[in-house]
Amino acid sequence: MASDITMEVLKQRLQARQHKLTTQRRIVLEVFLSRSGQHLSAEDVYGILRAEAMDIGLATVYRSLELLAEIGILQKMEFGDGCSRYEVGNLTPDEHQHHHLICLKCGKVQEFPDDLMGDLEEDVARKTEFQIVDHQVKFFGYCKECQ
Ligand SMILES: [Zn+2]
Ligand SMILES: [Zn+2]
Ligand SMILES: [Zn+2]
Repeated sequence: MASDITMEVLKQRLQARQHKLTTQRRIVLEVFLSRSGQHLSAEDVYGILRAEAMDIGLATVYRSLELLAEIGILQKMEFGDGCSRYEVGNLTPDEHQHHHLICLKCGKVQEFPDDLMGDLEEDVARKTEFQIVDHQVKFFGYCKECQ
């Protein structure tokens, strides 16, 4: 998914909250900007940075991810396996989020860009008189490699 988040946006948002753009925060965001469409856990990010010989601790990765999510640079997601994942956020938070396919074996998260939920939403709204403003869809199953 294309995102309008850049390093400059991160810098501005950190400054607005009296935080500094530290090397750690910068390299954590770089991991996401250079892997668009990926949904990574703290362990994933830590593994990637260690593989690139970056000197960073897992606790620092956790803290950086939490801060970046707090200021809307990253979006934090739970997929029911007890392991939070993050992806690059969106500057227009009202925009409808894409949907996700979660592999029960390897834990990989894929995006599903099409949205066929409009009709269902209308149907549910009509039958329940519930005013729906948004929905999230998660499909659980097995990815191509794990079938
Ligand atoms: Zn899989
Ligand atoms: Zn996603
Ligand atoms: Zn949708």
